[in-house]
Formats: sequence, C-alpha cells, structure tokens
Amino acid sequence: MRKPQRVVIVGAGAVGLSCAWFLQEHGADVVVLDRSGVGAGASWGNAGYVSPAMAAPLPEPALLREGIRSLLTPGSPVSVSGRVSASMLAFLAGFTRNSTAARWRRGMAALGPLGRDSIPAFDELVSGGVAAEVREGTYRVGFAAGHHPAGLEHELETAREAGQTVPFRSTSGHEPPFSSRITQIVHLDGQRFVAPGQFVDALADSVTKRGGEIVEGAQVRSIGFGQGGLQVTGTPYRGDAVVLATGAWLPELARPLGVRTPVQAGRGYSCSVSWDRPITTPIYLPGVRVAITPYGNRVRVAGTMEIAHRDAPFDRARLDAVLRSARPLVEGADWDDVQEPWVGARPLTPDGLPLIGPAKMEGVHIAGGHGMWGLTLGPITGKLLAQQIMSGIAVPELAPFDPLRSR
Ligand SMILES: Cc1cc2nc3c(=O)[nH]c(=O)nc-3n(C[C@H](O)[C@H](O)[C@H](O)COP(=O)(O)OP(=O)(O)OC[C@H]3O[C@@H](n4cnc5c(N)ncnc54)[C@H](O)[C@@H]3O)c2cc1C
Repeated sequence: MRKPQRVVIVGAGAVGLSCAWFLQEHGADVVVLDRSGVGAGASWGNAGYVSPAMAAPLPEPALLREGIRSLLTPGSPVSVSGRVSASMLAFLAGFTRNSTAARWRRGMAALGPLGRDSIPAFDELVSGGVAAEVREGTYRVGFAAGHHPAGLEHELETAREAGQTVPFRSTSGHEPPFSSRITQIVHLDGQRFVAPGQFVDALADSVTKRGGEIVEGAQVRSIGFGQGGLQVTGTPYRGDAVVLATGAWLPELARPLGVRTPVQAGRGYSCSVSWDRPITTPIYLPGVRVAITPYGNRVRVAGTMEIAHRDAPFDRARLDAVLRSARPLVEGADWDDVQEPWVGARPLTPDGLPLIGPAKMEGVHIAGGHGMWGLTLGPITGKLLAQQIMSGIAVPELAPFDPLRSR
C-alpha cells in the first residue's frame, strides 16, 4: 500500500482534529471538513474531564437497572425521549445484550491500553505546540448517604488491572464544596481536565499553523472513488485517504461503507455558573450523574443522558433538571447565574466501545463512537489511527475497536 500523502478528515471535533494533528506528525497533508465549524458537535460544551481511569464502557448491569427504573421517572438522569426510531430500538437492544459483567470486563481490558496512553497523548500535543491548558488536579467523587462508592472503587481497580496507574483513596465526613448530604468521597489523582472549547480551538489552530486546512460549512454527503483517488461529495475534496470522525452523525456516511453498528445520540446538557469560592479541581456526583469542572473564573456543570434524536432542539427543562439535581449536594453555586446553556450528542455504541479502524472501502477509516469519553480518548485515537494509516500496519491496540465488528 502506498503511504497516503493527502488525507481528508470529516468532522472537526476532538477526535477528527486529533487525527489531523497526528497525521501531520507523519508528514501527511491534511484538510478537515466540518459542516458547521470547529467544536460544533459534542466537543465544545462537555465536562472537560480528561480522566482515563473513569473511562469505562457504558453498558453494565447496574446502569441497565437504573435505565429501566429511569424510564418510569420523569426528570431522571437517564431517559429516552422523542420518537423511538428503528435505529434507536436496535441500539437499545444491543445495549441490553452488552450489559453483562463479562462483556463490561472485556471492554475494560480493551480500553486499558488507550487509557494508559491517553494523558501522554495530551502531553505530546502540548509539547508539539497545541496552546491548550491541560490541568492536573485531584478529582473528588461525592456519594450521599445510602449510596456506596464500591461500584466506582471496583471500576478504578479494574482500570488499574488493565494497565493504568490509578491512585485513589476514599474518605468519609463533610468536605466543602459538597453539602452535608455527601458523606463519602473518593479522591482520584493523576487525571487532567481542560476547557474543551478552548482545547479544540487550540488543536485547530495548531493544525492550521502546521500547514493543514480547516474548512467550515463543508457538509460531506458521500465518499467514493473519483478521478485521482478518493473523493468526498457535497463539498468536493480529494485525498489518498479519508477519516470519518462525525461523532453522533457517523451512521449517515459510515453505514454505506460497511459499519453496521448503530451510533445513538446520548444527549447531555451543560452551562456555566458562578461560585462563591473558586473551585480548582473537578467534582463528580454519581448519584445524579452531574460533573462540575473549573471553567475560567466560573464552573461548568454538565449532566444527563437523554437517548433522543441527535438534532432534537435544546430543552431548557432538561438543563434545569440537571441543576436542580445538583443543588442540594454542593454549596456555593449561584444557580440563577446560568451562562452558555448547551446541549451535545455523545456518540454511543451498543457495546460502549469506540469504532476505530478501516471501513470496507479501501483508504477510508472510521474514528468515532467514543460515547462519554471522546475528549479523553480523542488524542490517543488520533495518534494510534494515524500510525496505522501511515504505516499500513495494523496497530494491535486498535483491534478490539474494529468498526466492521458485528454489534
Ligand atoms: C454533557 C456532556 C459531557 C461530556 N463530558 C465529557 C468529559 O468530561 N470527558 C470526555 O472525555 N468526554 C465527554 N463527553 C463526550 C465527548 O464530548 C464526546 O465523546 C466527543 O466530543 C466526541 O467527539 P467527536 O469528535 O467524535 O464528535 P463531535 O465533537 O460531535 O464532532 C463531530 C463533528 O462532525 C461534524 N459533522 C457531522 N456530520 C458531518 C458531515 N456530513 N460533513 C461534515 N461535518 C460533519 C459535526 O458538525 C461535528 O463538528 C461529554 C459529552 C456530553 C454531551
């Protein structure tokens, strides 16, 4: 196979931009096409956690139980809303099938090498000129009375067994900014966090400075062979290779290329609020599935998992439900000072694992389906996929993420 010289990347989120940057490391000439703009999908308003230790496959028995319960409880952190389409049903059936302890453990083992190398991939970006602030700080995960950290501790132990360094300890007692309802805290070290919008902007700037092109407003409609190689249509561009990194919109372009796995939008909401004292490190409230992250001189609050159409309109009531759920569990926020309300679609796969690797059409590669963890795993995905594309040699760490696997 000839080494590609020009690669077209579709999608300017954390994953597509990371692919572009690492392809440049191998000498490729890149163009990134996005139908809207940099960070227009899920990569802008997410919680900003770069936490490989917490990056576990979503389907597991406890979440399945919670999901079934939630369907009967309005305003709960996991919900199905809108019209239930055939692809949503296929996703839910696959998700249910994958929600076993054995499959979860297999997924954790597959994610282990990616998790282990994900923070070094961020370091590589920064030392290579990406002007993003990647901060380190102890994550604190707070549990209310009646909830036990055993599930999280088990998850962290499993991440450790899969090869990651996961320093954590558990304490009990009151610790601000948690309210007195939070009685147990897991302190997790060695992770990072970012302001995700700033991160993708910095990544895009670096790709451009190194000679890459980023084309906004470029909707891609299909991929095929034309004169002189692969060609994308809609906004026509040619390349020796194409990477599809279109997040929750992956099926439109990837399905005709043999990717049968449904990618379902798991929509989440965020906003920023002010806080009376600076919050300097991330906080997680697993009981209500809300993440709280330092964000400039404010704090970003993010949460909920709404299984819905990826382009459904922003629903202020769902954001309000996220804020209402966090309110009694932390102290110091000004919940009336809501800025930058946002909704984004996590690209979920039924087995909770990303889709990374070649599609059926020669020269076309898939990078997506990272679900809850596309920011954390974006750079390492870009690094390993770029290595595979440019060397033509399969990277063993990517084998479990074959995009042509049956769901
Ligand atoms: C509330 C919330 C909180 C989250 N918190 C975290 C977190 O703390 N840490 C973490 O690691 N992850 C988090 N995530 C998940 C993370 O945001 C996603 O996994 C990640 O952003 C996916 O990146 P992506 O590049 O694959 O897709 P996206 O960022 O969605 O990018 C896809 C891009 O493709 C473009 N596109 C689509 N179709 C076409 C087309 N036909 N032609 C051209 N362009 C197209 C879109 O415009 C879009 O810009 C969170 C998600 C949500 C919703």
